[in-house]
Amino acid sequence: MSSLALFDPEIFDLINKEHKRQVEGLELIASENVVAREVMEAMGTILTNKYAEGYPGKRYYGGCEFHDAIENIARDRLCKLFGAEHANVQPHSGSQANEAVYLSCLKPKDKILSQSLNNGGHLSHGDPANMSGKFFDVSFYGVDYDTEVLDYGTIEELARKVKPNLIVCGASAYPREIDFKAFAEIAEDVGAKSMADIAHISGLCCAGLHNSPVGVTTYTTSTTHKTLRGPRGGVIMCGKESANSIDKAVFPGMQGGPLMHVIAAKAVCFREALTDDYKEYARQIVKNSRTLASTLEDNNFRLVSGGTDNHLCLLDLSDKNISGQRAETALGKAGITVNKNTIPREDLTPFETSGIRIGTPTITTRGMKEDECRQIGDWIAKVLKNIDNNNVISEVKKEVTALCLKYPLYPEIRDI
Ligand SMILES: *Cc1c(COP(=O)(O)O)cnc(C)c1O
Repeated sequence: MSSLALFDPEIFDLINKEHKRQVEGLELIASENVVAREVMEAMGTILTNKYAEGYPGKRYYGGCEFHDAIENIARDRLCKLFGAEHANVQPHSGSQANEAVYLSCLKPKDKILSQSLNNGGHLSHGDPANMSGKFFDVSFYGVDYDTEVLDYGTIEELARKVKPNLIVCGASAYPREIDFKAFAEIAEDVGAKSMADIAHISGLCCAGLHNSPVGVTTYTTSTTHKTLRGPRGGVIMCGKESANSIDKAVFPGMQGGPLMHVIAAKAVCFREALTDDYKEYARQIVKNSRTLASTLEDNNFRLVSGGTDNHLCLLDLSDKNISGQRAETALGKAGITVNKNTIPREDLTPFETSGIRIGTPTITTRGMKEDECRQIGDWIAKVLKNIDNNNVISEVKKEVTALCLKYPLYPEIRDI
């Protein structure tokens, strides 16, 4: 980046500082990852110079022959990865993928039934603060308060009462497996369409570690930058019968020109996700998550639902009298990045919260395994049990930095 260093030293310097932060810190935010160098290379290319509104073979701009080929490869690889009949790779983000689905099958004021935000759902599933909550009539289901898992019988009853046009499933903070077939059947029973948003778990679904909703629910949406480990962006998959309405909803319905440099990077990510190495990576994510979760339990912390089936766990700190906000700040001082999160039956505000969410996709990409996860779990416990002791916290930070330096983000790029 020598030209950038000369032309804009201010931004160059901040990028370097962020690089150092990523290299030296333990990133446990469940929605983040570290992309392959090849994915970054595709993103930083001349593909960004071109307009390509429309779809391969039907563009509104000339000179799109190479963009057509790239987008076709991305679509084909995504279909192969999930066994999908149709794929749209143009959504700029996961939220925009969801909005495009709504636009394709709902009218303003139609009814949506989805998982509530404070029970693990996502803003774009009809939260009042999001446009999905302003344009549609949204009802929410949550988890059962005793088991802290989804209860499909209760959801079915609610669906019969609400009679939604669309049932949305999938979550941002749910540590257990989701039964997509059960959701599809409930939707069918009440005459609704169904959308599964696998933003967090798509990497686990394509590797066979979580049941896949593709071909089961009417629509499947995902981000490409979480467990899937690609560039920031979204995708939609559906059956042939919905292909046309989905494509029209994305363009011209929701978006203008596609980000073709990002679509090329998505294609590279899908190629990687088709390999055996990636499947091994996905298996290790779950092994690491289970190890981290059980280490925290061994240290007398309570996990929401008592454990994890996927890449994340939710720590309930209400019995420790520590808010999620305070835990996030203290762990941050020790070089451990997590995010505060509401828990079922939350008593505190979304700014404070009673829990934290801990995920393993990033540390697994860096090559950490069960031994490191046990160590990390012990460090988290140590910080939270000594939350006012800055000496203990700075000792942990030294150890965290030393571990991270043993697992570089990009071994072939010299750390700054
Ligand atoms: C992360 C996430 C999204 C949104 O992705 P953005 O790319 O940030 O818009 C949508 N749905 C779920 C369930 C998510 O976890």
